[in-house]
Amino acid sequence: MKPAAFAYAKARSLDHAIALLGEHQGEAKLLAGGQSLIATLNMRLSSPSLLVDINGVAGLEGVSVKNRMVEVGALTRHVTLERSAEIARHAPLIARAMPQIAHPAIRNRGTIGGSLAYADPAAELPACLLALDGEVDIVGPAGKRSVKAEDFFKGLFETALGPHDILSAVRFPAVTADTHVGFAELARRHGDYAIVGLAAVAKANGESLSEVRLVYFGVGATPLRARRAEAALAGGSIDDAVNALDLDPSDDIQATGAVKKHLAGVLLRRVAAQLMEPRQ
Ligand SMILES: Cc1cc2nc3c(=O)[nH]c(=O)nc-3n(C[C@H](O)[C@H](O)[C@H](O)COP(=O)(O)OP(=O)(O)OC[C@H]3O[C@@H](n4cnc5c(N)ncnc54)[C@H](O)[C@@H]3O)c2cc1C
Repeated sequence: MKPAAFAYAKARSLDHAIALLGEHQGEAKLLAGGQSLIATLNMRLSSPSLLVDINGVAGLEGVSVKNRMVEVGALTRHVTLERSAEIARHAPLIARAMPQIAHPAIRNRGTIGGSLAYADPAAELPACLLALDGEVDIVGPAGKRSVKAEDFFKGLFETALGPHDILSAVRFPAVTADTHVGFAELARRHGDYAIVGLAAVAKANGESLSEVRLVYFGVGATPLRARRAEAALAGGSIDDAVNALDLDPSDDIQATGAVKKHLAGVLLRRVAAQLMEPRQ
């Protein structure tokens, strides 16, 4: 199938992009890496009147570490994060997740901002952002605001972004000496969207964990924290954490809810072991 006809404009700046979105009254879409958007156009799941290409907007790319916070520009490609020494050192959770996202050709174009804005419930980066207790910067007609990850993901493919807003950057704490991370997912083939996945962050003292954040993806409309399992894992028992798993996944085209719940427990055991490993 071919997409419906659309106009195309290359934004010169964030202000220009916001103005173009405003002129089209919710009928325009931003184009970042195009790896999700173009597929939805081709399948006619979306038919915007205008594509606003933000690839030429300066200042939206790159990784920096300031005041123990990692900041990533929205247009930073997946491949950049995958190969970044700064990400490997200060954000090992993101480093572990990157190779699981799609395939190299898609990672060459796809962006962190596009992935978070698209908010696929089975995507890795939204779960990582929530596990890291991160936030996003949003610029729009009313100026700039920051939104915490827990308030950003609102529903199925739904976020706090308004129709004339642009996600400009992502920020999360850099790891400290006692931060341990864990990541695992189950997919039918490497690179497919996950059936179930788990991103986790904790403070570790040997095998004793505290401040545990377990965020599942592929089990609901948004990334979900398993809070009772977090408390049980901080209490020291992996078995108790698996038994306490407070998830109620629905059936989808990949698996039944019951299978997903079982797989969530399998992943929890794997990720708990990663959290308890000595850091390299
Ligand atoms: C075969 C295939 C397999 C894939 N597998 C995975 C996978 O396993 N895991 C995974 O996470 N992803 C997967 N993806 C998606 C991929 O990661 C995309 O790159 C990503 O979801 C979207 O990023 P993008 O930059 O390409 O955004 P685009 O496709 O350009 O945009 C996606 C949406 O976000 C909006 N948008 C983009 N940037 C911004 C911004 N800065 N501010 C506001 N709105 C914005 C667009 O308007 C559009 O609605 C896969 C894609 C394909 C084609």
